[in-house]
Amino acid sequence: MSNFEYHKPQTVKEAIGLMESLENAKYIAGGTDVMVLIRQGKLAPANLVSLRNITELNGIDIQNGVKMGAGATHTEIANNGFIRKRYSALADAAGNVGSKQIRNVATVGGNICNAAPSADTACPLLVFDAKVVIAGKSGSREVPIDDFFLGPNKAALGPGELVTGVVMPAFGENTGSAYIKHARRHAMDLPILGIAARVTVKVGGSEAGCRDAFGTSDMSQIIRGLEKEKVAFEDVRIAMSVVAPRPVRAKKAEEALKGKIISEKLFEEVGEIAASESQPRDSIRGEAWYRREMVKVLTRRALLRSINRIVGPETTDPDRLW
Ligand SMILES: Cc1cc2nc3c(=O)[nH]c(=O)nc-3n(C[C@H](O)[C@H](O)[C@H](O)COP(=O)(O)OP(=O)(O)OC[C@H]3O[C@@H](n4cnc5c(N)ncnc54)[C@H](O)[C@@H]3O)c2cc1C
Repeated sequence: MSNFEYHKPQTVKEAIGLMESLENAKYIAGGTDVMVLIRQGKLAPANLVSLRNITELNGIDIQNGVKMGAGATHTEIANNGFIRKRYSALADAAGNVGSKQIRNVATVGGNICNAAPSADTACPLLVFDAKVVIAGKSGSREVPIDDFFLGPNKAALGPGELVTGVVMPAFGENTGSAYIKHARRHAMDLPILGIAARVTVKVGGSEAGCRDAFGTSDMSQIIRGLEKEKVAFEDVRIAMSVVAPRPVRAKKAEEALKGKIISEKLFEEVGEIAASESQPRDSIRGEAWYRREMVKVLTRRALLRSINRIVGPETTDPDRLW
């Protein structure tokens, strides 16, 4: 392992100043990506600038949407009651990163700045139209998350810039979301594929009928029940990971759903469209054809889970059912 100097700035300004003045310097937050790379010899910084003592980067503020500090850990996010209820897809993702030990130290800032195509929080942040708050020596700016991911391990950060937080707009009661990480094991595994959905729906029929529709584990029956109650998509976001060099939105599939009443045929069409928007490759975790097929399956599942979180019974645990 390379030798490095470890710096512990107390403020964002100090951290940016250090990055400017030091040779071959790298930010480190939880260190769960950085230290692995250093140990593997793929990274050899002369200086590590730690973000852990910067209190400005901490906390989760839930007024008028959500503002999370870049230093918020996956455990803090997954355990936040408001995020679990109103930004469920993000809680689903944060609660499934690595292991408990990893989640306790790894941060959301580190997850998005590392910009892995498989980063678990990326898809949820895409479906919530999140903006990344970036600080640099000439001030602060906000970048839509869709413009932040540039490619494998490439984020839209200039020299010395650091992410101070992530903001997400507020959504109404008729909005629900879900993230499904498709992996071989539940813990300590990167996804073969990740899909997040966020939907805002309008119920033309009865709310009780919608709740009853979720009283079965048969997905086709659930869809028929929701169709009977004229459940229509007002607004939709779908995001996919590990199907392209960076996490991406399935924008054509989103468009195809808007304003339509749920039906089996609609879900089939939308699954095909989402699959056509993916460009997966073969890897040790899964082959391209398999990933494309799973896009169809998981898009349907993520949409249904999102609707379940709006109109379904709170006791339903889709993880066990579907
Ligand atoms: C055993 C293991 C299991 C894992 N499982 C998963 C998993 O299931 N899902 C998943 O998505 N990831 C997983 N990871 C990867 C890693 O844990 C996550 O990406 C994590 O969120 C990184 O956060 P961190 O705070 O540790 O980042 P660090 O390692 O500290 O930093 C990561 C990168 O981001 C930069 N950086 C960090 N914070 C900032 C900031 N505020 N501004 C600018 N740049 C910054 C660093 O310079 C570095 O390039 C796993 C890692 C390990 C070791």
